[in-house]
Amino acid sequence: MEIQKLVRLNIRNLKPYSSARSEFVGTAAVMLDANENGHDLSGEGLNRYPGPLQHAVKARLSALKSVPAESIFTGNGSDEAIDLLFRIFCEPGHDEAVICPPTYGMYEVLAAIHRTPLKKVPLDAGFGLRPEAIFAAVTRRTKLLFLCSPNNPSGNLADPEAVALLLRKFPGIVVVDEAYIDFAEQKSWSLQLPEFPNLVVLQTLSKAWALAGARFGMAFASPQITGLFDKVKYPYNVNMLTQRKVLEALAEPEKTHAAVVNILAEKSRLREALLKFSFVKTVYPGDANFLLVKFEDARAVFEHLKRQSIVVRDRSGELHCGNCLRITIGTKSENVRMVEALAGFNGSLGLES
Ligand SMILES: *Cc1c(COP(=O)(O)O)cnc(C)c1O
Repeated sequence: MEIQKLVRLNIRNLKPYSSARSEFVGTAAVMLDANENGHDLSGEGLNRYPGPLQHAVKARLSALKSVPAESIFTGNGSDEAIDLLFRIFCEPGHDEAVICPPTYGMYEVLAAIHRTPLKKVPLDAGFGLRPEAIFAAVTRRTKLLFLCSPNNPSGNLADPEAVALLLRKFPGIVVVDEAYIDFAEQKSWSLQLPEFPNLVVLQTLSKAWALAGARFGMAFASPQITGLFDKVKYPYNVNMLTQRKVLEALAEPEKTHAAVVNILAEKSRLREALLKFSFVKTVYPGDANFLLVKFEDARAVFEHLKRQSIVVRDRSGELHCGNCLRITIGTKSENVRMVEALAGFNGSLGLES
């Protein structure tokens, strides 16, 4: 597949902004090139622009993820990478994208922002991919396919054979969103980049790495595609404070690993506790840090929890998710409070004293 042919013409022809800092490699003794304030008023070096290409962070990520640095794009959350995919590949009002509901809501929001017509090919009732239905939805204008594995909100991993088939036969970019991969047993698709030139894998430090507030996401793809990301992104898309915090976190992966082990143990405890309630119908098996739970009356449970100052995500309105709440696995004490609150649920709406 010729990736270049999928790229919007104006992006192919774009001469990107060349920042002062990206033209100079190394540290100069005197930096009078970027109209910064030479006085370091913060005392933390924030008077200088950050590195535009995040070389130190990428070097560390490359070692951790076993992906070459030139195959890594880093951005302001993985949401930035999703936004850039539309900007790079989808001519507004013309080129199409495919999503598989129920799935992460930002694909649809960003498609709407970019006026990208969206084809929705639902997952089957067991939340499995339907490759043949996806191929049937493809037109000459189809550029992007978003897969989410483990999927939000259903929590399950995508069938690897279905993903491999899609990677081989889909005539555009296949995005595999792995926001929750750190909680799953399966290996990342990023290890298969050499085999699939149309693959883009998204990951984030917002979930397992406990840095949602820092805003840092990654896309792994061929150097040709990461080059397109770099061409289109804001020059200084990851700020200096975030780059420092990310380097600190990446230096101690064992901390993240220990938290993941704890969360997975809490998940099985919570699943057992939930299954004891008569008003719980199904706890879906999931490979992420949340549980999708079907109740007799999800809205009543949601309101009950809210009155106890506990907030969960109501997914009842999503396809195949009738009466389902998505419950994040919290700390032990948070989970205990949630189960205690559920124990006080009597099925009535707003009547308990
Ligand atoms: C949470 C989440 C993201 C998030 O991303 P940021 O890196 O915080 O922007 C992306 N995809 C899915 C499926 C998510 O659930």
